[in-house]
Amino acid sequence: MQTIIFATGNKDKMKEIRMILGGMGAEILSMKEAGIVLDVEENGTSFEENARIKATAVAQRAKALSIDAIVMADDSGLEIDYLGGEPGIYSARYMGETTSYAVKNQNLIDRLSDVPDEQRTARFVCAIAAVLPEGEYLETRGIMEGRIGYGESGENGFGYDPIFILPKYGCTTADLDPEVKNEESHRGKALRAMREKLQQIT
Ligand code: IMP
Repeated sequence: MQTIIFATGNKDKMKEIRMILGGMGAEILSMKEAGIVLDVEENGTSFEENARIKATAVAQRAKALSIDAIVMADDSGLEIDYLGGEPGIYSARYMGETTSYAVKNQNLIDRLSDVPDEQRTARFVCAIAAVLPEGEYLETRGIMEGRIGYGESGENGFGYDPIFILPKYGCTTADLDPEVKNEESHRGKALRAMREKLQQIT
């Protein structure tokens, strides 16, 4: 059976990844489950570059441990047009890694005070990189377009979900059921695109 290692320690992400890649008949492991402990510095200048840096580093470690697997990694974030694409690739590190999202979200709302609806456009972006056992490299990108609200709403999701309004549903992604968010989400789209690419070549 093919093994897929996803280079993340995030349990929410692993749940989503298992839901979407689960039907492929592969064994899906988190880095921890694969016995890999590695802290990779994300010093790239794009989502794609950061995903590639993570996937490549973990693939090298897997190879050193004689683990025959496809290694995947993602990098994602929120781009707000009015703020020139901020927080972008710095989404996790915005205002400091340990600052609460209640504070980060309020800060972004404050920076958009007096900005009208049509200029509050934003998107979540997710890049996924995969390194195959033979060293071949695949990459996908998923995008979810929306706009920034005027306050937090919703209890589901994580991070910037409470301020990200999905126009199709007229509510934030934190107001949506997780299954619905997965259907629409940047990560869901990038994962499904990766599943298709892998199915074409395996
Ligand atoms: P990553 O784990 O390095 O990809 O960091 C992604 C960061 O972007 C997260 O810590 C969140 O701040 C933000 N982010 C990415 N995807 C989402 C999402 O689906 N909802 C809310 N925030 C997200």
